[in-house]
Amino acid sequence: MSMRQDVLVVGSIGLDSVKTPFGEVSEVLGGSAIYSSLAASYFTSVKLVGVVGEDFLNQHVELLKRHGIDLTGLTTLQGKTFRWKGDYGYDLNEAITLDTELNVLSGFNPQLPEVYKDIKYVFLANLDPDLQLSVLKQLRKPEVVVCDTMNFWIHGKRDSLIEVLKRVDIVVMNDAETRELCKEPNLVKAGRTILSWGPKRVIIKKGEHGSLMFANGSFFSAPAYPLEDIFDPTGAGDTFAGGFIGYLASCGQMNDMNIRKAVIYGTTMASFVVEDFSVLRTAALNQQEIKDRYREFQEMVHFGE
Ligand code: AMP
Repeated sequence: MSMRQDVLVVGSIGLDSVKTPFGEVSEVLGGSAIYSSLAASYFTSVKLVGVVGEDFLNQHVELLKRHGIDLTGLTTLQGKTFRWKGDYGYDLNEAITLDTELNVLSGFNPQLPEVYKDIKYVFLANLDPDLQLSVLKQLRKPEVVVCDTMNFWIHGKRDSLIEVLKRVDIVVMNDAETRELCKEPNLVKAGRTILSWGPKRVIIKKGEHGSLMFANGSFFSAPAYPLEDIFDPTGAGDTFAGGFIGYLASCGQMNDMNIRKAVIYGTTMASFVVEDFSVLRTAALNQQEIKDRYREFQEMVHFGE
C-alpha cells in the first residue's frame, strides 16, 4: 500500500520586480521556494526551508500558512530579503535578469529541523548549489530528490552544481539552461549528458512548448497548455516542479505512469501561475479548477489507437 508523503522544499524566498510587455510590478512575493511550495500545497503537506530578512511582510507569511505550509524551517536573518529584478520581451520564454541581490541568502546556512531529515520527497529549488549540497547531506533516507537551477549558478558555481546533479534523482531545468550547462545545442544530447552524470531522469522545460522527460530507456513529451493570455512567466518553472513533486508525493509511489501524470500536473499548475503576476493566481486556485484543466490536457493529447 502506498501512502501520501510530505514534501520538503528548500529554495529562495524573494521580492521580485518584474516587467513584461503587459505590465510591471515591484517587490512582489517571489522566489523559487515560494512558487514551488504553493503549487505542491494543492497535493500534499509542504515543509518549507528558507531565509528572509527583517523587511519580509507578515502578510506573505500568513499567505503561506493559509496553504498549510509548515514554516518551522523559515529563518529570519538581520538584513534584507533576497531580491530579483527581471524583464521579458515578447519572447516570454526568456527572462532577462537585470539585478540579483542575494542579501540574506548569502549568509544562509540551511539547518533542517530534526524531523525534516526523514522526509522522503524533497525539492531542491533554485538556490546556491553549495546550499543544495548541504541540505542533501542532512537528509537521512530520501527516496525522491528533484532539483532545479538557473543560469546565475551555471555560470557562478558550475562545479558545485554538477556535484548536486550527480546526487539527485530527477533534474528539472529549462531548455536554455540545459544547453548552457552541457555546452550542447541539441536537447536530446544534452539530456543524455545529464543522465550520464547520475540522475535517473531529466525533465527539460521548454516554456510555451511543453516539456521533455528523459530516462534510460524511456522518453515522454508533454505539450504546454495553449494559453492565450500569458501575463507573467515568472515562477512557471518552480510552479511546474512544485506541482510535479507534490503530485508524486501524494501518490507515495514512484512508477513510470505516476511520473508521467506528475509532469502533466506540473504543467497544469504552471499554466495557472503565468495568468497573473507573482502568486496571485496560484494562491487563489481550487481543486476543481486543477482537475478541470488536467482533464483538458488529457483530451488535448488523446488520439486513439
Ligand atoms: P522561474 O520559475 O525560473 O521563473 O523562477 C523565478 C524565480 O526565481 C523568481 O521568483 C526569483 O525570485 C527566483 N530567482 C531569480 N534568481 C535567482 C537566483 N540566483 N537564486 C535563486 N532564486 C532566484
